Amino acid sequence: MNVLVLNAGSSNLKFQVIATDPDRIRQDTDERLCRGAMERIGGEAIVTVETKNAPRQKFTAAIRDVGAGLDYILRYLASDRSGIDEIRSLADIQAVGHRVVHGGEVFQESMLIDDKVLAGIEECIDLAPLHNPNNLRGIKAVKELIGRDTPQVAVFDTAFHTTIPEPAYLYALPYHLYRRHRIRRYGFHGTSHRYVAYRYRTLRNITREQTNIITLHLGNGCSCTAIRGGRSVDTSMGMTPLEGLVMGTRSGDLDPAILTLVATKEGMSPHEVETMLMTQSGLLGISGLTNDMRVLQEELKDHDDRRVRLALEIFSYRARKYIGAMMASMGGADAIIFTGGIGENSPEIRARICQGLEWAGVQLDTDRNSQTRAKSADISVEGSKLPVWVIPTDEELLIARDTVRCVLGLPHPA
Ligand code: ADP
Repeated sequence: MNVLVLNAGSSNLKFQVIATDPDRIRQDTDERLCRGAMERIGGEAIVTVETKNAPRQKFTAAIRDVGAGLDYILRYLASDRSGIDEIRSLADIQAVGHRVVHGGEVFQESMLIDDKVLAGIEECIDLAPLHNPNNLRGIKAVKELIGRDTPQVAVFDTAFHTTIPEPAYLYALPYHLYRRHRIRRYGFHGTSHRYVAYRYRTLRNITREQTNIITLHLGNGCSCTAIRGGRSVDTSMGMTPLEGLVMGTRSGDLDPAILTLVATKEGMSPHEVETMLMTQSGLLGISGLTNDMRVLQEELKDHDDRRVRLALEIFSYRARKYIGAMMASMGGADAIIFTGGIGENSPEIRARICQGLEWAGVQLDTDRNSQTRAKSADISVEGSKLPVWVIPTDEELLIARDTVRCVLGLPHPA
C-alpha cells in the first residue's frame, strides 16, 4: 500500500510517500518512496523533494494556501517529473495518514477518518487553535483532490499520552476549570516517543511490558516522557507544547506569575506575552542569537560567548532535572533515550545533560557518544547501570504503519 503521510502546518506542508503493508511492517522493510516539504505557503513557496531514485530537488511555486499546496504536490508526485515509478497517477496512492496535533481526551489511538472523527477533531480546535484547523484543511483538501473513497487516517500527537494517570495530568487549579474547559496535561510528540519506545524494545528484544524508559525528544520543540510498561505515565509538555523543557524559541516551565508581571511592566497584552514565550524565548531568548543548536555550538567554540554558554547550560540543566523528575515519577528507569535533531546529532549536548547523573548509574562512553550521529546505539560504558541510547525518530513511518493498520482494521501493536 502506498501511503501518503501529511503534516500540514499554517504555512508549511511536510509529506512523504511510504510503501508498506502488514508483511513489510512485520519484516521492517517498509520503503520510503519520497519525502519533501513545502514552506512559505501564502506567497512564493519553496518546495524540496527527495525521491528514492533521484537526488534532492528544490524549486519555487506560487501557492495561495494549504489546499493549493496539496494540489500542487499531488500533481507533482503523479507526474513524470517526480520520477517515482510506483506512482503514475493519484490512484496509486491508496491511503493518506495525517499527523493531527490535538486529539483531546477522546482519541486514544489512531482513527480511520469518518464524519464522526472529523467532528471530534473540530471539537478539539479550542485546545489547539493554531494547529487543528490546518490539519482539518489538509484532510478536506485530500478528500476533494484524491476522492472520497481513498481512506484517510488521523494519527494524534496526544494519543500516546492518554495513559497518563490523573495525579500526573491534573493541574492544581480549581477543579471546575478542568470540568468546564478540559484544562489538563495532554502532552505532545506522542508519535515520536511511541516510535522510539517501539524501536528500543525491538533492538533489545524485550516486550512492551518490559519497556521502562525515559525518552527525550530534543528538536525545535523538546519534551521528555516517562514510559513504564510501554505506556506513557508522565510527560513534560502540558496543556500546550509550551510547558517543560527549554526549547528553540519556547521558554518551557516558568512561574505563572511572571506573565502578569511582564504584561504590566512591558505594557503587553496576555496574548503578546504568550507569543513571546512561544517565539522569542528558549535558546533564542537566552542567547539573543538564534534557536539553531548547531549555530550556538559553533558560536561557543569560536567565540566562547557568555550568553550562548548560558543558553546551552540552562537547556541541559532543565533536561537533566526532568530526567530526575521522571525517574521518581515512574519508580526508576532501565534506560534513557535521546532522539530528535539535537538528541540524535549532538554528542556535546548529550554529554552536558548526562553530566551529574552518575549518581543514577549513568556513565557515558566518550567515544561511543562522539561517534553516534543519526543512528541507533548504546552510548554508555559497558555494564553501565543506567544505559543511555540514541535512537533516531521516524514519526512518518509510524503514521504510515498506523494508516495501514486502521485501513485494514488491524490492532495497533506499536
Ligand atoms: P523539529 O522539531 O522542527 O522536527 P529537528 O528535530 O530537526 O526539528 O531539530 C532541529 C534542531 O536540531 C535544531 O536546533 C538544529 O540545530 C539541531 N541539530 C541538527 N543537527 C545538529 C547537529 N549536528 N548538532 C547539533 N544540533 C543539531
